[in-house]
Amino acid sequence: MTQIAANYPDLSIVIPVYNEAKNLPLLLERLLAVVHRMQVTYELVFVNDGSIDNSLQVIKQLAAVNPAVSYVSLSRNFGHQVAVSAGLDVANGKAVVIMDADLQDPPEVVSELYAKMQEGFEVVYGRRVYRKGESYLKKVTAKFFYRLLSRITHVNIPLDTGDFRIMDAKVVNVLRQMPERNKFLRGQVAWVGFRQTWLNYTREERFDGASGYTYRKMLRFAFDGITSFSDFPLKMASMLGFIVSGIAFLLMIYTLLARLVFKDYVEGWASIILSVLFLGGVQLICIGIAGEYLARVFNNVQGRPLYVVDEQKTANQGSNNT
Ligand code: UDP
Ligand code: MG
Repeated sequence: MTQIAANYPDLSIVIPVYNEAKNLPLLLERLLAVVHRMQVTYELVFVNDGSIDNSLQVIKQLAAVNPAVSYVSLSRNFGHQVAVSAGLDVANGKAVVIMDADLQDPPEVVSELYAKMQEGFEVVYGRRVYRKGESYLKKVTAKFFYRLLSRITHVNIPLDTGDFRIMDAKVVNVLRQMPERNKFLRGQVAWVGFRQTWLNYTREERFDGASGYTYRKMLRFAFDGITSFSDFPLKMASMLGFIVSGIAFLLMIYTLLARLVFKDYVEGWASIILSVLFLGGVQLICIGIAGEYLARVFNNVQGRPLYVVDEQKTANQGSNNT
């Protein structure tokens, strides 16, 4: 018997939504078919991340006719990772799935994730073996990024995975206690530990609309991933400092010899310009790297709330404004 439990459903599905009005009805339809087949109690948690289309109205309509649908609506666009975090904060399920609203993560895979979890895992993440309909540049940069990240971090962040995954409530609890503001959830989940495994799946094409991830947002996200899980860039900055100082020292000896011994010192404009430019560049890069970390420290010590909720409805209850 399929039923909806108010407190601890077997499964919560957290779905961040940014301008996905046209995708939501089909997403819900396919998800409901899946959870009904799975014979579990469930709740669907939509997080409206400051959409500027009528996604919120659509979510409200869906919630009005389906008591298992709950939502959190944020006061503005806080970004995908924060939207997911807001959803995890209110999800009550014994297992929690994170998936996109644009049908790129096929709803049917949810039952496979759930089944795999029952074999005794706390986390099962989806590994994208094939990505349909994404630009060559996106695929190549993503591939490069995950490989770079895995080389320079101590945490074993799985290659080619997004946030599409299922997690035990234990893991979700730990995530809620991680206060960092520059969220890189797929890394945080890896950090948490427990028994984790993966399932291969084909990432579908977005059903309608356009990706909310601009290259700018992706770059920011990549920096967050690197700075949250690696201090390699900082170490690289000091390594560069040593290397450049070494070269400078050798040049110094050469300069002194040229001046005092070989008496060959009139020319040299090119070498001065080159070394000034080179040293200036290296210094700026290193200050920039230190700045990236400092900015994140600053962000975190400010201690602002991670997101602001405008309105919300919990599953099986009336709507209430906060
Ligand atoms: N999303 C969000 N806030 C944003 C950008 C995206 O909540 O600022 C949601 C979006 O609605 C979708 C998921 O995050 O459900 C993944 O985003 P998108 O499809 O735009 O990224 P892509 O799949 O292109 O990486
Ligand atoms: Mg997408």
